[in-house]
Amino acid sequence: MALTPEQQAEIEAARAEPRPTLRAVAPGMEAQLHIAHPILDHGLIRVVDYMGDDGAICQAARVSYGRGTKAVSDDRGLIRYLMRHWHSTPFEMCEVKFHVKLPIFVARQWIRHRTANVNEYSARYSVLDREFYIPAPEQLAAQSRTNNQGRGQLLEGAEAQRVLDILREDATRAYDHYEDMLTPDPEAGKQGLARELARMNLPANVYTQWYWKVDLHNLFHFLRLRADHHAQYEIRIYAEKMAEIVKDWVPLAYEAFADYRLGAASLSAQARAVLKRRLAGETVTEETSGMSKGEWREFVEEWG
Ligand SMILES: Cc1cc2nc3c(=O)[nH]c(=O)nc-3n(C[C@H](O)[C@H](O)[C@H](O)COP(=O)(O)OP(=O)(O)OC[C@H]3O[C@@H](n4cnc5c(N)ncnc54)[C@H](O)[C@@H]3O)c2cc1C
Repeated sequence: MALTPEQQAEIEAARAEPRPTLRAVAPGMEAQLHIAHPILDHGLIRVVDYMGDDGAICQAARVSYGRGTKAVSDDRGLIRYLMRHWHSTPFEMCEVKFHVKLPIFVARQWIRHRTANVNEYSARYSVLDREFYIPAPEQLAAQSRTNNQGRGQLLEGAEAQRVLDILREDATRAYDHYEDMLTPDPEAGKQGLARELARMNLPANVYTQWYWKVDLHNLFHFLRLRADHHAQYEIRIYAEKMAEIVKDWVPLAYEAFADYRLGAASLSAQARAVLKRRLAGETVTEETSGMSKGEWREFVEEWG
C-alpha cells in the first residue's frame, strides 16, 4: 500500500490534533479515523470523516414522538424494528467518507452504485503511479464451469506462472510507453503527449483513488451486494473491510443489518408455497415446484 508523502502528512496532522466537539461521536469510529487499511497488493481504504452514530438513527426515528435518545436496550429494539420493516430513512442520517485506492476494473463495478458522492484522482491533472494489481496465486483461477460470472479451480504450476508473467509484462510495457509518451525531450524534437491522452493505453489493473461519501442506508445496500459471495473477490475484499469498520461505527445498526439482510434469505411466492407443502409432508420435486431450473437450484442450495 502506498500513501503519498502528502497523504501521510495529512493523516499524521489530523491524528495529532484531536479537537473537542459537540457533535455525536462514535468511539469505534474515532479509533478508525484516518487509519489506512491495506487491501489487495497496492490498494487501501480509510475513513476520512463521518457523521452520526446509532443514537442519531434513533433520534431521527423518534422525531415523530418528540423524544430524545432513550436507553441502549430501547435503541437496539428500535433499530432492529426499523431494519426489519425497511424503514430506511433514519439510517440515512449517518454518513461516512472513505478514501479508497483501487484498481480501475474494480472502480468500474463500484461506480455503478449511484447513491454516493465521488471525487476521483484526475489522470488529466496528475500522472498515475506505476502500480498494477497482480492477483495473488490463490486468486488465480480458471473460468467457473457452473457460474458464467465466476471462478473455478485454481491455476497451477507452469500455467499460473505464465499468466502472472503475461500480466506483469503487459502492465510494465504499457506503463513504459505511457511514461515515454508523456516525457518531453526538446533535443529529440519531442513535446510529450498530454496526460489526458497518454493514459488511454494503460491497463484496467492500474490503480486509481477516490473519495467516496455515502449514507448508511446506501452503504448497507452496497455491502449486501458487494460483501456477498456472488461479488468478485477484488471488490468483496474492500466491502468486507468496510463492513468491519461499520460494525465499529454503529454496532447496533450493523447487528440488525447482519441479522435482517446479510444473514437473511428472501422467499418468492413459489418458494413459500413449496416450503409450506414440504412442511405438510409432501415431497416436492423440481418438476412439481413450479420453479425454473435456476430458481430450484438456488432454493435447494438454501433450504436443502
Ligand atoms: C454480483 C453482481 C453482478 C453484477 N453484474 C452486472 C453485469 O453483468 N452488468 C451490469 O451492467 N451490471 C452488473 N451489476 C451491477 C448491478 O446491476 C447494479 O448496477 C449495481 O449493483 C448497483 O446497484 P443499485 O443500482 O441497486 O445501487 P445504487 O445505484 O447505489 O442505487 C441504490 C438504489 O437506489 C435506487 N436508484 C438509484 N438510482 C436510480 C435511478 N436512476 N432510478 C431508479 N432507482 C434508482 C434503486 O432502488 C437502487 O437499488 C452487478 C452487480 C452485482 C452485485
